[in-house]
Amino acid sequence: MPSARLHAKMQHHSTMAVWAFVVLMSACVLGLVAWKAALGRETALTRNEEDIRNLVHSLTQHAVHSFQAPGVAMSGIVDLLKYRQPDSAERFNAHLANTVRSLPQLREIKVLDRNGDTLYSSSDLLPSHNNADRDYFNFHRDNPDSGLRISGPHDSRTTGRPTIALSKRISDAATGAFAGVVMASIPCDYFSDFYRSLWIGEHGAISLITGEGTMLARWPSGSSGRDLSGTPLFQSRLKQSPDGYYRTTSPFDGIAKYFGYEQSPHYPLLVTVARSEAQILAGWQQALHRDAFVAFFLLLAIAGIATLLARQFHYRTRLEQSLYEREERYRLLADNIADIVLVLDAKGVCRYVSQSVHTALGMTEDMVVGRSCLDLVHPDDREMVARSGELLDDSGRPRSITFRVNRPDGAVVWLESNFRPAEGFGTGGLSTVSVLRDVTQRRLLEEELSTANRRLAQLATTDGLTRLANRRSFDGFLRDAYAHNQLLSVLMIDIDHFKGFNDTLGHQAGDACLRQIAGVIESVTANTGGQAARYGGEEFAIVLPGMTEARAMEVAEQLRQSIRKLDIRHPAAPRGYVTISIGVADKHEACTNDIALLREADIALYQAKDTGRNRAVAATSLRSAETASPPLADMNLAG
Ligand code: GH3
Ligand code: MG
Ligand code: MG
Repeated sequence: MPSARLHAKMQHHSTMAVWAFVVLMSACVLGLVAWKAALGRETALTRNEEDIRNLVHSLTQHAVHSFQAPGVAMSGIVDLLKYRQPDSAERFNAHLANTVRSLPQLREIKVLDRNGDTLYSSSDLLPSHNNADRDYFNFHRDNPDSGLRISGPHDSRTTGRPTIALSKRISDAATGAFAGVVMASIPCDYFSDFYRSLWIGEHGAISLITGEGTMLARWPSGSSGRDLSGTPLFQSRLKQSPDGYYRTTSPFDGIAKYFGYEQSPHYPLLVTVARSEAQILAGWQQALHRDAFVAFFLLLAIAGIATLLARQFHYRTRLEQSLYEREERYRLLADNIADIVLVLDAKGVCRYVSQSVHTALGMTEDMVVGRSCLDLVHPDDREMVARSGELLDDSGRPRSITFRVNRPDGAVVWLESNFRPAEGFGTGGLSTVSVLRDVTQRRLLEEELSTANRRLAQLATTDGLTRLANRRSFDGFLRDAYAHNQLLSVLMIDIDHFKGFNDTLGHQAGDACLRQIAGVIESVTANTGGQAARYGGEEFAIVLPGMTEARAMEVAEQLRQSIRKLDIRHPAAPRGYVTISIGVADKHEACTNDIALLREADIALYQAKDTGRNRAVAATSLRSAETASPPLADMNLAG
């Protein structure tokens, strides 16, 4: 896959992963907050229902008790007045005042006669106004019912404040006729003050209502006397259940509220408690705001982590792409160059080989990877290759060896290996990286060149016609032999009348003759440790290190006879066959150098010519002849 597409795909995957992380984590946080909010709201509403129901019940009990106690006291007064008039009005008034004092809810108890005038009163001053116009008075006058009647509210003629009236009829004991009314008044403030002490929150309300729907007392606004008989509470709910709890919009302030009510089973009155929804849910809303705040910071943290993740992914993607591209480049290089790239572990086992091993050695990668590198090497070179590891030192400099490898098809390939240590390859251990180059062609060329050089060297020191050493080579050999040997003899050889040979038999025959004679000279010199050479033209020379002149004379004679035995026809020679003349000289004290020694042999050769040819003459014989004077004695050994 192209690198750019791979990079785009990796980038896409990492972006998707980051987005998935953001969405998942955000959903978790928001889901948790929403779940907690829903649970909190339900808990708040449930708790509120319990609280309101309990409060309504308690307040109903409170209202009942508030009316029950005065009711009992009033029954006692009615019973007393039914049968007889008090002895002392003053004492009876005091009794009424005591009763009022013992019942804090009461403001006043008074007794009205059948005309509505006040007979007795708990007040210090007996009220002078007539109460015959009051509805409770009219009710009792016209109704024989002896039960406690709760009515109001009406404005007190004494205080001007709204007041609830508790009243009972006094009937004549004998006739049952209307005899008056006992009336106790409870200020509406008694209830509203008590309700104020109960904190039910802003926009909350507690109401005490008569069974007919008249508001007796309410907190916070004292709208006493209001008629609520037309509201849904009286129209439907009370008919269904004496107590209840529901959500409604307040008819007083238009605010959504939760509303609880309970009707007293003893008296025709009921208590309602309302709390505003906002108040009920204030705590929940506060917690919700707090949670939202925490969620906001959590979302910020998630966004931060996502940004870091995105950067990290981006960095990693770029890094991976860079590594991928680099590996691709190296692989491209390794796979497309003719050289073989090889990586060995510390044990010499191949861990990687480039594809070029196929073209270079005809091997697959599987045949190389996992095997010891020595398995590939030609058996003759294995020891050398095994020891090559010692070449590596700490400097990390590359080293080079050349060895042979057997291809699977049987051919032998010469490889030059440049190798150097490298840190780790996958396993992290020490590795060796080797670049192998097929140098078979170069090796063949080198061998050819070496052969040519050897041949050239041979040509430079050998005479082309006779294959003997040439003059230059001979001079060097003689110089060296002279320097290193005390005993040393030299033979100078010349073919007799050779000009005539050429002239009569031709140059080709002359060459053939030269080759024949050269062959004999070489064979005679072969086992002597000396060297024979063509000295020039039809002249030859032999150096015999470690040999005395006498021994050299024997060699010369052997040579002369061997030539004679060849019996080469020579029409121009007096003897009719080819002969040679030889001058022999050895190294002696008076001899200054190799040139002088050669000169002495040459002089001896001339002497051999002069004395009839086909003979060997020793230089020593010439020197002794000079000393003896007259003339030197020839060693005519000719046969
Ligand atoms: P002498 O007995 O005094 O040595 O007489 P000679 O004729 O051998 O001596 P000379 O110096 O007069 O002649 C030498 C001859 O050797 C001359 C030349 O033609 C012949 N010669 C020299 N080199 C070669 C060669 O390479 N091939 C042939 N065929 N002849 C050669
Ligand atoms: Mg000559
Ligand atoms: Mg000659």
